[in-house]
This record gives sequence, structure tokens and C-alpha cells, in this order.
Amino acid sequence: MVYIVGAGPGDPELLTVRGRRILQQADVVIYAGSLVNPAILNVCRPGAKLVDSAPLTLEQIITEIARAHEQGLCIVRLHTGDPCLYGAIGEQMKELDKRQIPYRVIPGVSSFSAAAAALKREYTVPGGSQTVIITRAAGRTPVPDSERLQALAAHRSGMAIFLSAGLAGKVQQQLLQNYPGDTPVALVYKASWPEEKVVQGRLDQLQQMAEENNIKSTALILVGEFLQKTGRSKLYHRDFTHGYRR
Ligand code: SAH
Repeated sequence: MVYIVGAGPGDPELLTVRGRRILQQADVVIYAGSLVNPAILNVCRPGAKLVDSAPLTLEQIITEIARAHEQGLCIVRLHTGDPCLYGAIGEQMKELDKRQIPYRVIPGVSSFSAAAAALKREYTVPGGSQTVIITRAAGRTPVPDSERLQALAAHRSGMAIFLSAGLAGKVQQQLLQNYPGDTPVALVYKASWPEEKVVQGRLDQLQQMAEENNIKSTALILVGEFLQKTGRSKLYHRDFTHGYRR
């Protein structure tokens, strides 16, 4: 069996119980070395074969998996955070389907959850924004025109921008077309890692914040009033009754 496992944001204690158990059993672990915290690999058993996928192509990764599968081995494909976000697992699953190699996906804690935890904030603010947009800036990987940052910024909701810390100047300029300059922003570098760093400021300072702190990768850009605002939910209000409280 092949398991596509979400490694979580970095701290090995943020692996799911299932992810950890499967990682302990694995014979072969193919991990995204550019992002997965190496400390997580300490969970693997001593004899396990560890393969960094960073220098490999899709074809090489699939060959590695197929070879191990033929030998009846337990294989983990380890992705950072939750594999459903920018994990490029679709193309791998397509190849596994073609070869009739069975697999399961084990979700993980995404970095956008770990970043909110680091900031002690909630993306959805009672009485305020009820929406968070997960996106990225267009770089070498294109983004559909209808999802340009300036277009998404028109919603003025919370935003978690992946894969874009190295483009902070461009992100700032595009968002400023629809968010006010004093909109709160945060850069969260390596959320949940020992070297985690949180920098907060205003949108019109974003580029400067990234440069001064030398943050270029493995960081999220968070934008929106949720960084400052806390509200009061109806759910726990004593005058609000619902199915579980009369
Ligand atoms: N599937 C992953 C995202 C992979 S894309 C997830 O759910 O988190 C890689 C991008 O994720 C990085 O460029 C960065 O923007 C973000 N990222 C991954 N781990 C992070 C961490 N620990 N702290 C902050 N950002 C992180």
C-alpha cells in the first residue's frame, strides 16, 4: 500500500496519530526535502529507506514507488502541511491509478492553521469577515487571470498567501489596489519550527518587513482585519439558543 501523508507544518508533534503510525511502519519514505522538517524523519524505523524527492522528477518518483510496490513494501509519500494544498499529489495519484497501485491519503495540519496558532488569531471573526482566501501570487507557476491578487483583494476578507514570500513587493503592490494601506499583515516564517518567526505590520510595509527580516521562503503572508479584530460569537452568547443549548 502507498500512503500519501501530510507531515504537518514542521513540529513532529503536529503529525496526526495515523500519519505517525504509518510513518513508523514504512519501508520506504519519499519526502519533500525542500519543505519537510528533517526532525519528522526520526519517527521512521532505522532500516527504512529515505528518499528526498526534491531533486527527482515525477517519473522518477513514480518509478521509485512502483519498484517498492512490486516488492510488497509499505511506502509513504510525505508532503508538507496538508497534501491537498499545493502538494502536486494529483499528478502522482493519476500515475498510480494508471498502474493500478492502491493508495490512501492521510491529511495533515496545514501551515495556514499553524500560522494562525502562532498568531493566536482566528481567520473568521464573529461579526466580521467570515471568509478566508487561500491563494498564491503568480510566479513561474501561473495563476488564472480571474484569481489575480488584486481581484481577490476586492473581497477584503482574510487571506493566506502561500509560496509568495519571495514576491512580497509584488504582493504588496497588487493587494494595495483594493485593500487600504493600513490593513494588518503578518509574515509567518516556519510556523511551528524551532526557528519560527512572526513579523507583523501594515500592508504598505510588507516588502520592507520581508526584506528587513530576510524572509524569502517557507513563509506565509497573512492579510486582513482578522489579525487585529476579535468579535463575539452568537454561538456562546447566553441569549442565543440552539439545538444543544436551550
Ligand atoms: N501543503 C502545504 C503547502 C505546500 S506549498 C501546507 O498545507 O502547508 C509550500 C508553501 O507553504 C511555502 O512556500 C510556504 O508559503 C508555506 N509553508 C509550508 N510550511 C510552512 C511553515 N511551517 N510556516 C509557514 N509557511 C509554510
